[in-house]
Amino acid sequence: PETHGQVSVAINRVSFTYPKQPQSALKDVTLAVKAGQHVAILGRTGCGKSTLLQLLTRAWDPQQGEIQFNGKLLSELDENTLRAATSVVPQRVHLFSATLRDNLLLAAPSASDEQLSTMLERVGLEKLLLDAGLNSWLGEGGRQLSGGELRRLAIARALLHDAPLMLLDEPTEGLDAETERQVLDLLAEVTAGKTVLMVTHRLRGLMNFDSIIVMDNGQIKELGNHAEL
Ligand code: ATP
Ligand code: MG
Repeated sequence: PETHGQVSVAINRVSFTYPKQPQSALKDVTLAVKAGQHVAILGRTGCGKSTLLQLLTRAWDPQQGEIQFNGKLLSELDENTLRAATSVVPQRVHLFSATLRDNLLLAAPSASDEQLSTMLERVGLEKLLLDAGLNSWLGEGGRQLSGGELRRLAIARALLHDAPLMLLDEPTEGLDAETERQVLDLLAEVTAGKTVLMVTHRLRGLMNFDSIIVMDNGQIKELGNHAEL
């Protein structure tokens, strides 16, 4: 597919209002992310961070402005190309009532059991393999996961999918400092060369990001790097 290698993102004067809402969630947002750049998105709750990532998955289309991947309008990319281009860790992770294996295969249908187990170890979820291994039943009628386990399951899914554009919505939310450190190290290692947009609440761990944007009330207010902010 055309986005197989690397992906640059251009968000150009985008405004977006959710259906039936009086106020827009994004107002005239412009942002260019070069292929391979790592961008962190900060800002207060409700300022539009998740909405911005959601528009990049085409969960919604903006009413104004345009978004391009590698110079191609997002609205003109077919669904398969778009899915192959992006790995997503959503803010609200969905656990399927299915085996641990199937919960992971969803992101990477052709992964082997060994690849799945290795990835679970890398995100620190090897404990989930203890009872029935990859056959463990999750979700309704089975094992529920803690908030932090869910986030790491979502990270495992995103890394198994291994797309050139990573959209990470608070991937370390709810993790203790030590686990957060491990996850950020892992992400830094596996996202080298990939384009990353990561929503986070903390400046900690962002030293190696190329740029940090701060959003406020649906707009980008500041743009800098770790040293500048
Ligand atoms: P947080 O840090 O709490 O995750 P955020 O910056 O990600 O916040 P968004 O989720 O993008 O914020 O929300 C931006 C605005 O859009 C908020 O005012 C929110 O209430 C509203 N909003 C979000 N999702 C929807 C939706 N599905 N329908 C209507 N309004 C929504
Ligand atoms: Mg959010």
